[in-house]
Amino acid sequence: MEESSATLRQRRELLLRELPPFDAVLRGSLVERYKRCGKPGCKCAQGPGHGPKYYFSVSRTNERPVMAYVPQSDHARTVEYLSNYRRIRHILDELCDINRELLRRREAF
Ligand SMILES: [Zn+2]
Repeated sequence: MEESSATLRQRRELLLRELPPFDAVLRGSLVERYKRCGKPGCKCAQGPGHGPKYYFSVSRTNERPVMAYVPQSDHARTVEYLSNYRRIRHILDELCDINRELLRRREAF
């Protein structure tokens, strides 16, 4: 069943209220790395290595991805900001869908 235009506008309002703060965003991804230290007798030689250590990676058009070390103290916030970015993009897509549908119906935005 088709959503009424009133429902569409209502959903748009709700989406706007769910928007994460625009200043708390990061585009890219978090990379997990384990490293062997090479010290003789260290137990890491048998396992995957020390870690996980986190690196933030972002790619730009025509550029090689840039990696930056993320200290443990910044890990949670980095995860949150990456998630905010994806959420904002998702909400923008939804808003565009709603507006496109209203336009198609020749109704007021
Ligand atoms: Zn080690």
